Amino acid sequence: MLKIAIQNKGRLGEESLSLLSRIGIEVDTTKRQYLSKASNFPIEMLNLRDDDIPGVVANDIAQLGIVGLNEVEEKGFDVKVLKNLGFGQCRLSLAIPKGDEYTGLEYFAGKRIATSYPNILTRFFKEKGVEIHPVVIAGSVEITPAAGMADAIFDIVSSGGTLISNGLKEVEVVMKSEAVLIGGNSLIDEDLKLLEEIEFRIESDSISRNKKYLLMNIPDESIEKAIEILPSMRSPTILPLAADGWSSIHSVVNASELWDKVRQLKAIGAEGILVLSVDKIIL
Ligand code: ATP
Ligand code: MG
Repeated sequence: MLKIAIQNKGRLGEESLSLLSRIGIEVDTTKRQYLSKASNFPIEMLNLRDDDIPGVVANDIAQLGIVGLNEVEEKGFDVKVLKNLGFGQCRLSLAIPKGDEYTGLEYFAGKRIATSYPNILTRFFKEKGVEIHPVVIAGSVEITPAAGMADAIFDIVSSGGTLISNGLKEVEVVMKSEAVLIGGNSLIDEDLKLLEEIEFRIESDSISRNKKYLLMNIPDESIEKAIEILPSMRSPTILPLAADGWSSIHSVVNASELWDKVRQLKAIGAEGILVLSVDKIIL
């Protein structure tokens, strides 16, 4: 049976389950055991700490995994990154005390840098030819400069609020990360078919995310302009209304452009604009 390793709690746990549910893989989430089985798809979930996911996939205990790219890079196991999943976005950055003047990477020469990502950190500075002293710590990395344990830190940043509240400033982004689907190297044919199905569904889910379905009534003389405003997947659907001189236009737009489009459409006479969420887009 195909197994997928996901984080048992933490920042990626809920989102991983929600992705599986959006692609039609239902898991009983009331009992988060070590192993849980989907009710409607031949797959089992291994619920683990995120640190263990790359290794479990590399060793074929699970054939797939959902984990941050940062963990994949840090652990360095032989796994394939199959898909970016669009959640868990963060970056791995270097930060220094906010009162220090930053002079470029040379600033770090001979300095102690606290991190939970020693492999990525040392690889980065080796490539740059700058010698540093990593201080490996499992958590609370951001307090180490104030505690006198390190001169700088290398850690996960998303909003940057934690850095500021600890008197630090971000000076270099070393890598960007998000949750990714990873796979091992020994998938058998039967698993490959299921994997193809899973990838196809994830793709449909990610295309539909952040899309809105728009429908509205428009005077016939404005149809040409409306088509310019609304380039759709192929082109907008236009249906005549029972009322003479009016049509109904249907289209899909990016959520980020929605209000701009609505304003332009209203300006050319669109009325009764309905905005609907899109569940899935199958291209
Ligand atoms: P575990 O107990 O499973 O080892 P953890 O404490 O190592 O959990 P989390 O804090 O739950 O890990 O983070 C899991 C992953 O989520 C990180 O490896 C990273 O990819 C991503 N992540 C971490 N912090 C953030 C953040 N602030 N914003 C977005 N994503 C983040
Ligand atoms: Mg962890």
